[in-house]
Amino acid sequence: MDKHPKKERTLVIIKPDGVQRSLIGEIIKRYERTGLKLIAMKMLIPTEEMATKHYYEVGGDAWLEEVGRKARENYEKKGLKSPFATNMENGKAIMKSNAKYLSAGPVVAMIWQGNQATGLVRKITGGTEPLSSDVGTIRGDFTLDTYQMADAGERSIRNLIHASGNTEEAEKEIPIWFSEKEILKYNHIQEKILYDVNLDGILE
Ligand code: GDP
Ligand code: MG
Repeated sequence: MDKHPKKERTLVIIKPDGVQRSLIGEIIKRYERTGLKLIAMKMLIPTEEMATKHYYEVGGDAWLEEVGRKARENYEKKGLKSPFATNMENGKAIMKSNAKYLSAGPVVAMIWQGNQATGLVRKITGGTEPLSSDVGTIRGDFTLDTYQMADAGERSIRNLIHASGNTEEAEKEIPIWFSEKEILKYNHIQEKILYDVNLDGILE
């Protein structure tokens, strides 16, 4: 039998700008109140190697190509020409700046579990570029960076959070940040309300 949907797990990292902006509590609150279950959490200062592993080992060349393609599209939308000869070159430059960004200071890494955890977390987190992220999302509500400003500074877009892009990415990313014994297995009392077929036991 397939795993119950309530077992889906996803990785969230509050990036160094999120910690420096004093948004740890605000960010956790937004995920927590959905009913997702926090099953692992730690604060650490990632090394640049760890950060590179997180982006490159998980996504590989396909991710470099894709992130480079998105960047090219963004240049073209603004009527500009990408300074990079290929998407791959642009992707590599983004990966390098990402590794610097993620390892710039303390971060908070977490695993959230529950039905559609990955998609739900992405929805609440918002799109990559804060200026165009939807109102009501974390990136849209709490910060203001743009592709334009990031590119001018030859740095990554500062968007407070990393959230796994899909379930496959999540399952590859989780072991980079957490050992098996750091991931807690427990029942949360509200799971009865969220997932049980019958709402038994409410009435006296
Ligand atoms: P995410 O899943 O929404 O975080 O976005 P991606 O996986 O596509 O990219 C990872 C991170 O790289 C983003 O969160 C940004 O910090 C950064 N990034 C992505 N695309 C660009 C870009 O075109 N330019 C710059 N400067 N940074 C980017
Ligand atoms: Mg991503």
